[in-house]
Amino acid sequence: MGRTALISGVAGQDGSYLLEFLLDHHYEVVGFDIDGNALARLTRRITERPDARRARLLVADVTQPDNVRRLLSDTAPTEVYNLAAQSFVGRSYADPYDDVVITTGTLNLLEAIRRHAPEARFYQASSAEMFGDAAAPQTEQTPFAPVSPYACAKLYAHHLVRMYRDVHGLKAASGILFNHESPRRRREFVTRKITHGIAAIVSGQATELRLGNLDSRRDWGHARDYVRAMWLMLNRDEPADYVIASGESRTVGELARFAFDLVGLDWTRYVRQDASLVRPHDPANLCGDAQRAEADLGWRPEVSFEALVTEMLDADLEAHGLDPKDVRR
Ligand code: NAP
Repeated sequence: MGRTALISGVAGQDGSYLLEFLLDHHYEVVGFDIDGNALARLTRRITERPDARRARLLVADVTQPDNVRRLLSDTAPTEVYNLAAQSFVGRSYADPYDDVVITTGTLNLLEAIRRHAPEARFYQASSAEMFGDAAAPQTEQTPFAPVSPYACAKLYAHHLVRMYRDVHGLKAASGILFNHESPRRRREFVTRKITHGIAAIVSGQATELRLGNLDSRRDWGHARDYVRAMWLMLNRDEPADYVIASGESRTVGELARFAFDLVGLDWTRYVRQDASLVRPHDPANLCGDAQRAEADLGWRPEVSFEALVTEMLDADLEAHGLDPKDVRR
């Protein structure tokens, strides 16, 4: 029988990679997002694919129960991936009400599945931010200690998913994903801010790069690897929650130094620490232990930190009209 996936937040970084992954695996995919412009860009991105007709992309709001109910009953999905969110943690301190996308959105999808598609499998985009200040390395057993409105909303949704699995018998799984990046990452995120900022400096459009806390430690992987983990998790007989991480953490300063080194520039001459960009509270060290995912799902990241940053930098250099071969050392 053919498989149909429904993806919320399809026009974001992960949604776009997941869409391509599922098309490669012969799915029919219905994706929706609130951002019409990003959906139009995604449509252009996949239009050359011979299988593009198996994708249907729509503007819809996951916080609207009627939208979600209609999508569920019209598409009768076999798998549902809930990726919609305002995903920038820093912004959630200023605009905590935006986190309703995570709380209400998740509830809308779970309730619609319970009522209209109880056999559908459900994936929830949980986050390592739920661990907050918990000691590293974090595993599935680490107690949660969220320190941002975003992380509190993700934790509410995470518990809701577990409850719908245990109480209502839904085949639901949450992926506790650590940071994952790519050239498709939006520019406010620090990895992309760094690679885009370097390209601007090299092309003469900027003279400095302003960053917040250089000492925050994060565990960074490639989004392409992480969407594969989502699919593996959901296609296991007994859905369960998994930490997905590279197992290596580095500071923001280390990332900046590595990326500046790639173009032969001394990062200390260009990076300025800007107090206004420091968050009210930042988890000091997020570093995951994904041994359970490796044992149960056979999942391991394939893209190294170095390859990830190099790919992102090359894409930004090209977007600035530069040939990476001419610029990189
Ligand atoms: P993203 O690029 O921000 O994608 C999320 C998408 O959801 C955006 O296109 C966003 O549109 C859309 N959206 C916002 N409100 C919506 C609504 N009411 N209805 C429908 N769509 C809506 O995030 P991502 O990096 O792909 O991450 C995917 C999911 O994984 C998110 O839930 C994120 O919180 C979670 N996560 C990500 C990471 C990571 O490192 N990338 C780690 C752990 C968990 P706008 O751009 O207009 O807001």
